[in-house]
Amino acid sequence: MATLYSLRNLGISPGQSKHEELELELAPYVQAGVAYASPVSAVPGLLDVTMMTEGLSFRLRFQAELHGPCARCLEDATLHVNVDAHAVHDSEVEDDQLRSEWVDDDEHELDVTGWAQEEVGVRFPNRLLCRKDCRGLCDTCGIDLNQVDGVHTHDKPSDSRWDALRTLQLGTEEQAENDAADALERGE
Ligand SMILES: [Zn+2]
Ligand SMILES: [Zn+2]
Repeated sequence: MATLYSLRNLGISPGQSKHEELELELAPYVQAGVAYASPVSAVPGLLDVTMMTEGLSFRLRFQAELHGPCARCLEDATLHVNVDAHAVHDSEVEDDQLRSEWVDDDEHELDVTGWAQEEVGVRFPNRLLCRKDCRGLCDTCGIDLNQVDGVHTHDKPSDSRWDALRTLQLGTEEQAENDAADALERGE
C-alpha cells in the first residue's frame, strides 16, 4: 500500500522543517523473476520536509532487510539496506533535477513508499549471495558445496568421443594455417 504524504497545509515557512515518523509497507523487490521480501509488513521511516525559498526538500531515512534465495546456492540470503536519501521538488520548474518523480503536483502528495522502493532497488546487488564467499552448487551433482568439508571433485569420465572431436578440431586449425601459408606463397 502506498504511503502518500500530503504536502497541503504543511504549516512551515521557508527555512523551516517538519519531521515525520512513517510506516513504510515495502513490496517485495523482484529480480529475474525472484522475489526478495521484507519479513515485516512495515518498516519505520523518518521523513524530513524542508520548505525552501523555492520548492521543498525531502530527506527519507529507513532501514530494511530483504530475504530471498542466494543466487549461487539457493539458501536464504539477506540484504540489509540503510537508506538516507535526499530529493528536492519545485513544481514551478521544468528541470528534472529539481522535480521529484514521486511528487504528484495535482494531488499535492509525496509517494513515500514508491520513493522508498526505488531506493531499495538502486541498492540491490546484481546477484545477492548468502555470504561473500558462497561456494554454490556442484555443476556435476548439484550438492551444496558450502556443506562440504575440503575439496569436492568427481573423477572425470574418459570419453573417447571427446578425444576424437579434439583431434578433429586441431586438424582443422592446422589445415587452416597451411591454407594461409599456401596463399601467402602464391602471393594472394
Ligand atoms: Zn549461497
Ligand atoms: Zn559434485
